[in-house]
This record gives sequence, C-alpha cells and structure tokens, in this order.
Amino acid sequence: MKIKNHLLYHDNNDRVEWQETPNKSGHLKEQKPRYIIMHYTGGSNVQSAINTFKNRQAQASAHLIIGNDGRIVQMGRFHERCWHAGRSEWQGIKGLNSYSVGIELVNWGWLNGGQGNWRSWAGTRVPDENVVQLKHKHDATQRGWESFSETQIEVTLNVVRALLHQYDLTPDCILGHDDISPGRKQDPGPAFPFDRFRGLLEGRRETEQPDILNPIIFEPKFRVTASSGLNMRSGPSIADTVIKTLPSNSQVILLEKLDHWWLVSEIINNKAETTGWVYSHWLFPIN
Ligand SMILES: [Zn+2]
Repeated sequence: MKIKNHLLYHDNNDRVEWQETPNKSGHLKEQKPRYIIMHYTGGSNVQSAINTFKNRQAQASAHLIIGNDGRIVQMGRFHERCWHAGRSEWQGIKGLNSYSVGIELVNWGWLNGGQGNWRSWAGTRVPDENVVQLKHKHDATQRGWESFSETQIEVTLNVVRALLHQYDLTPDCILGHDDISPGRKQDPGPAFPFDRFRGLLEGRRETEQPDILNPIIFEPKFRVTASSGLNMRSGPSIADTVIKTLPSNSQVILLEKLDHWWLVSEIINNKAETTGWVYSHWLFPIN
C-alpha cells in the first residue's frame, strides 16, 4: 500500500474506499501524524462504523476503519484532525487528536457471559472460537474478548507499514487508545497482538540469523488459548481423528492455512514436534 496526498492507495494504485466524515476539524498541529492510535469499534461491521462516523451527533470519527474481512475505509485525510482520541495524554502531549491518525478495527471488544454463551454489550452472540480469554493491562480480571481476524491483522499491518514509511515514523509511535486514555478506554484491548505487530514492523524476523536446522524461527508462532486444551487432528475438520490435545498455553508454529483450519507443529524446547490440524480461533499470536 502507499500514501499520496494523505490518501491511502492499494498496490494496484486504486484508492482505498473513501467515505468522508463531517466529524473533523482543521489539520494536525505538525501537518502530519506523529502517532498512530489503535481502536476497536465496539460493533459488528464496517457499515455501522461508517454510519456512526458520518452522523454529526456522534461527534466521533477516525481516519480509517478496517473490517474483519480486511475491508478498508478512509474517512479523513491523514493530515486532517479526526475525533477519535478524546481526552488523552502521552509523554506530556495532551489532546492526541491533534497529533495522530486513528485506526478503528471492527471488533466487539470485551464480552459478557462465558463459554457457550459469549455476548457483546449489545447482546449479540459471539461464537466460542472467536473469543480469547485475557486480562487487560489495566484490569486484574480475566475477561472474554472478541479476537481479531488474521486477515484484519495482516491488512492493518500493511496499512501501518505505509503510514510509518510515508511519515517517517517508528513502531513505538503505535499506541492503543488504552495507552493514551487509561482507565477511560479499553480499546484495542489485550486481544490486539501489539508485540507481534511491533516486532514484525521492526523487522525482527528478517534480521534474525537464518538457521536451516531450526525452521521454527521463520514461522509465525502462536499460543493455545483454549483453557481446556486444543485438539490437534489428522485433517482439517472435526471429523478427523484427534492426534493429541495441546495443553492450554502450549506453543505452535503455523505451517499452512485452510480457511479456519491451520496446520501447525507443537513447539517443545524450541523444537517442532507433533504436527496436525487445529481450529485457528484458539490460537493467539506471539512474537
Ligand atoms: Zn478508541
């Protein structure tokens, strides 16, 4: 992806879908962003986020919305001042709307209920396989959070890469709304893989020493989040035989994807062990 005139373009030079928000005022103080603030919408789809940000009464907006399916919508130019941060402060700078680009990821955020009956704040059912149970850094209680889709994370990574490149920024400028408005905001929350994200942007994997005997450093690593363990199967369906149940928190590397079923190898003592298929929603990326 690339940016021209503060507008985002796909690699084929098509402009990203443009849906201008009326909820913006003037330009960023430095005429370009210094920070990138990550949010979640607290909703279920791109359209409802567009509707909110086009509604003047909402008095809220963001530069970008990214859907679970990777759809990207731009609502303000990157040097314009959108209203996504509200009361906020970071390293002595107050009012981050004047210094940042806001990216809203479609996601419900934290959920009510429990296994078999996870619900959004709006009462919508969220299937177990889309839920990760984690603690927020500002909260001692473990909760269920809707996971971000792999496509959504990959697309977001490409967008952020383009922003860093265009505006000469480093990965430490990527912040959560919960970093700049702690206590008041929980988004993007613990389900957003910040460490992996920053790691990939810093090019850690590229600079690592190649080691042919140890392929695991080349492959994306994941942690099993299912508290009762995750069945590893001989094929990509629940009809296939269970080879082994991977314990909660065990680590795997990703070898191949077939929709929501992933072929993974369990990692024990830094070595790839048993290989088989697992349902991907119970895996959480680690750096
Ligand atoms: Zn937010």
